[in-house]
Amino acid sequence: MDTLRKKNIEKLASPAELPLFKKSLSSDFGENVFNNRQLQRYISDHAFKQMQLSIEKGTPMGTVLADQIASAMKAWAINKGATHYSHWFQPLSGTTAEKHESFFDLDASGVQIEKFDGEQLVQQIPNASSFPSGGIRNTFEARGYTAWDPTSPAFIYENTLCIPTIFVSYTGEALDYKTPFIKSLQKLDDAAFEICRYFDKSVSKVYATLGWEQEFFLIDKSLALTRPDMMLTGRTLLGHAPSKGQELNDHYFGSIPARVGLFFQDLENECSALGIAIKTRHNEVAPGQYEVAPVFENANLAVDHNILMMDLMNKIALRHNFTVLFHEKPFDKINGSGKHINWSLNNNAGINLLSPGKTPMSNLQFLSFFVNTIAAILKYKELIRAATVSASNDLRIGKNEAPTSDLFVFIGIYLLEVLEDLENVSKGKLSPEEKTDLKLNVIGKIPEILLDNTDRNRTAPVAFTGNKFEFRTVGAKSNCSKLITVINAVVTAQLIEFKTAVDQFIDKKKMKKDDAIFNVLRETIATIKPELSIENLKEEEQTPSSTPSQLTSYTQAASVELFEGLSIFSKRELEARLLVDLEAYISTIQIESRTLGDLARNHIIPTAIRYQNILIENIQGLKEIYGTGFKKYASEQLILLESISNYIAQINEGVTKMIAARKKGNQLTDFHKRALHYESEVKPFLTSIRYQCDKLELTVEDSLWPLAKYRELLFVR
Ligand code: ADP
Ligand code: MG
Repeated sequence: MDTLRKKNIEKLASPAELPLFKKSLSSDFGENVFNNRQLQRYISDHAFKQMQLSIEKGTPMGTVLADQIASAMKAWAINKGATHYSHWFQPLSGTTAEKHESFFDLDASGVQIEKFDGEQLVQQIPNASSFPSGGIRNTFEARGYTAWDPTSPAFIYENTLCIPTIFVSYTGEALDYKTPFIKSLQKLDDAAFEICRYFDKSVSKVYATLGWEQEFFLIDKSLALTRPDMMLTGRTLLGHAPSKGQELNDHYFGSIPARVGLFFQDLENECSALGIAIKTRHNEVAPGQYEVAPVFENANLAVDHNILMMDLMNKIALRHNFTVLFHEKPFDKINGSGKHINWSLNNNAGINLLSPGKTPMSNLQFLSFFVNTIAAILKYKELIRAATVSASNDLRIGKNEAPTSDLFVFIGIYLLEVLEDLENVSKGKLSPEEKTDLKLNVIGKIPEILLDNTDRNRTAPVAFTGNKFEFRTVGAKSNCSKLITVINAVVTAQLIEFKTAVDQFIDKKKMKKDDAIFNVLRETIATIKPELSIENLKEEEQTPSSTPSQLTSYTQAASVELFEGLSIFSKRELEARLLVDLEAYISTIQIESRTLGDLARNHIIPTAIRYQNILIENIQGLKEIYGTGFKKYASEQLILLESISNYIAQINEGVTKMIAARKKGNQLTDFHKRALHYESEVKPFLTSIRYQCDKLELTVEDSLWPLAKYRELLFVR
């Protein structure tokens, strides 16, 4: 009997029917986005200005204005062939959610109309009861509502007008990632604005910029279909490493395979119409792994674009007979996938506050943001780790070139020297000579230094890369705003503290502004410097990434104080998020464990027995021919037969024990305890059972093996 694996491999051998994609990179950038340019074509200048004002001030729009905008959106969307509209939001399940409503409606007399006004634009009430809420939603408050985010433009996706929204419970708690994120951006703006005013009184707004780099694997769809583990868990739970992995470093930046190239072209075109400016694409280190990155933009928009693109990638991959894997560790022993997040701050004049300027004063501004960002990250590093851990990311962090689990910030040796010089300035008021020396020889030299020293430490969880901070621990699958909400919050708190300290020096010690800033920076540098010299943490020295232990940082007193103080999360919301993440952790390991049990008992053991039958037939044949002397010729077969029996016994015993461990865990009503139980009692079986199964993969006749092997999955062209 032919296995599905064999059949599908044969299918691959015949020339694949590649979809031909001829369209050149589009000149229709943003064609499917209802941006300001479009809006202005449909509404009056007065209405447009009113809208901008209300966005800037965060005040409600009023029904008349909302009706005008809705009517403009409807006209534009229907004109472009849209038949439906949908509030588009980001629930805590980690994907996007949409509930499509047709524009089509009937009026009171039964006549067909197309209905979409301010009311439908601004708010919808989807049933919130089936989204993760961490206990916030009880059945009697199952209602939640989505509310329009006018800072992210609506767009047409397939034939639906999608309206980016936040998602909150009826009682006002956030049930999504966007709500706290938008709040954190606002708070950061307020705090950073105050610091900018020390240097430039004309600044009126600061916004965070974000540029992500998305890693992923592309696997032939028909081969992926032979793998229930990939289909159900997004990763391989079994599979022996191929004879050749990434040892030769021949995939990184290599020539993009033709079939993948077509996928990229298709993706870039669709992204372009949706206003996502894809800038780079390349092969990553592991075979079968790729990366795509856009031009950076306003952080809120960048996050929306990232999750929209991930959804798009799933769909486009199918067109090209690929399965795209965003899992953080789809394959054992080779690199996993992350999502590097580049973060910076821009003021309304377009000045990057984390980019050294041309004058000593602008460099002092740069240093203020640079030093305070590092101080914030180091002060709250456990909370920052909590925002990136997950069952799947735990498998990646600390292994195969991935960032270390212990959080440190890499800034390179030259900036470290600048900080040392600043730390050594004398306390109190600076003498004119000292100030001149500082301005000319220390901070005046920063741009030159940076130009040549974008030195990278690949395993640093956070690195300063010349004009932005790069966060590398975020998992490929996750929503970037989860971490950036925390970053925004901790930096905000730090900037507020910094301003208070500077103002105190100015008011109480009658210092000049730059003297005061130098003094506070010196003090801050003294606290962070010891932690900055840790570089190249060794893998073996790290504490392994552990989701259940790390997650409790959310609800520790310091975190609650931070988030409540800034009105980004209430204590209840933090507890809810902890619960959602713990439940996700438990479910992930539970599903993996069930899937592995099924694979082991229904696929691997029967395959091993089939091979044993072949061996038995062979041994019996030898016995027939050679009679009692047969052992001389059948000795290796007999050893093999026995070793397969041993593997089978160990696998079966492992599965039985694993099921018992799950049952025990499920009885624990405390979710934190249950998660810890799953980590220490269930998860190890995923490794031990796998080990035995992978040994069988090396033993059993190739044609009998039911699951596509690593060498087939990773090297298909
Ligand atoms: P790398 O070597 O890490 O690939 P790049 O310079 O190519 O570095 O930048 C990678 C990412 O950084 C891109 O997604 C880009 O959009 C983003 N980026 C560049 N400048 C900024 C900035 N000022 N703010 C936020 N992201 C930025
Ligand atoms: Mg990068």
